[in-house]
Amino acid sequence: MSSNDVSGGIVVGIDLGTTNSSIGVTMNGQPVLIPIEGQPLLPSVVGLAPDGSLLVGRAARNQGVLYPERTIRSVKRRMGEDVRLPLGERQHTPVEVSAIILRQLKLAAETYLGQPVARAVITVPAYFSDAQRTATREAGEVAGFVVERVLHEPTAAALCYAGEGPGAATERKVLVYDLGGGTFDVSILRQQGEVTEVLASHGDTHLGGDDFDQVLARWLQQRFEAQHGVSLREDRRALARLSRLAEETKIQLSRDSYVRAIAEDLGEQDGRPLHLDVEVDRHGYEELIRPLVERTKDSVQLALREAGLLARQLDEVILVGGATRTPLVGELLQGLLGRAPRLDVDPDQAVALGATLHAARLAGLPVQQILVDVTPFSFGTAYFGVLDGRPSTHCYKQIVPRNSPLPIRQTEVFFTMQDGQRRVQVEVYQGEHPDTRQNIPLGHFLVEGLDPEAPE
Ligand code: ADP
Ligand code: MG
Repeated sequence: MSSNDVSGGIVVGIDLGTTNSSIGVTMNGQPVLIPIEGQPLLPSVVGLAPDGSLLVGRAARNQGVLYPERTIRSVKRRMGEDVRLPLGERQHTPVEVSAIILRQLKLAAETYLGQPVARAVITVPAYFSDAQRTATREAGEVAGFVVERVLHEPTAAALCYAGEGPGAATERKVLVYDLGGGTFDVSILRQQGEVTEVLASHGDTHLGGDDFDQVLARWLQQRFEAQHGVSLREDRRALARLSRLAEETKIQLSRDSYVRAIAEDLGEQDGRPLHLDVEVDRHGYEELIRPLVERTKDSVQLALREAGLLARQLDEVILVGGATRTPLVGELLQGLLGRAPRLDVDPDQAVALGATLHAARLAGLPVQQILVDVTPFSFGTAYFGVLDGRPSTHCYKQIVPRNSPLPIRQTEVFFTMQDGQRRVQVEVYQGEHPDTRQNIPLGHFLVEGLDPEAPE
């Protein structure tokens, strides 16, 4: 493969996301995302630094909270519109701004691979209009790509999970639930062999993980104001810090059941610095975001109805988008559809990896399926609760859901049954059944020396 041969050569896969973008390439038969400043995701943010230089990605995102007038975020929402977006003194079309992001991805790929990269597969949401698709293609061309294909995001994601071998030719119905930073969409696909068809697609173009940040930031603000009797409403810098802190806290809450949120010198009173230092627990946080997650249910049902399918006729439910790492999202969806969603491929990388798989096929490269190490079973513990309408000590709480990528660390909080209780026996089970007696006991251990005075 000659390095300056544009018609042949490498084909990359690109997820040009509202919040984050990424670029992948197939190496040794395996699709991988190219690291950009050490990370697989590049924030889809363009900014103008005080010295007039152009910032793309993390740097732009970091200055964006303080200088919104010199920052363009979520340009994907404007694709296909005939507008000029202000960036400091400059004006840019949405196509130009997307091209700046795409050029950064191209540069990262070329640096990483040590050769020019031209051919690309770029993904767009299934609901994108013709004008939006054309604008995306144009942005690719402005960035110097030969755009081989504009592929649907859910189709790309489903490619990561498409089986190979004898069973691959049978028809599969797949639901792709994609909750990103600022958009939500659910698509139902029919896959057969190499052909994927979008049967239905619904969503909300103004719902995503950023809304989770906002409700949590507001809660943190209220806690701070109540504690110190000081209002932060007019303090742009403090509010910007709170929204960053809320996002960090939210991400940590996907894994830990408690997170301490700390912001020093957030405000001041009579020249005295005031700090924020609160503990956020996952259950409390879930109550804050539950109404937002609930809102996605209608779209799921609408999409199913439009596709003429019942939930049980689905062969696969796939989670896509960073915000689906929130445990509550998977739980609500499982409750609604009666089946555990797949989450083995990193949800915020699935679209780019699928686009890369598609790109490899266009280039005629042999590709393996994406390999990840997952737990084939769920693991959990017994607790005292209500089972089949009766109090029972055999209630099963799943802690590590099946298909989770390994290694994994998950935490969950339980309370003792009696006041002053100092010891607790922890049982560990493998299985999916709500009654622990139907699951496989793996072992147990005793936790001693609990503090009877500890507050709840
Ligand atoms: P998009 O498709 O909109 O470009 P992504 O799929 O990259 O966006 O999702 C970005 C969103 O995912 C952000 O709101 C981010 O805070 C959120 N996110 C990323 N990681 C986690 C996590 N571990 N838990 C919860 N939310 C997360
Ligand atoms: Mg996305």
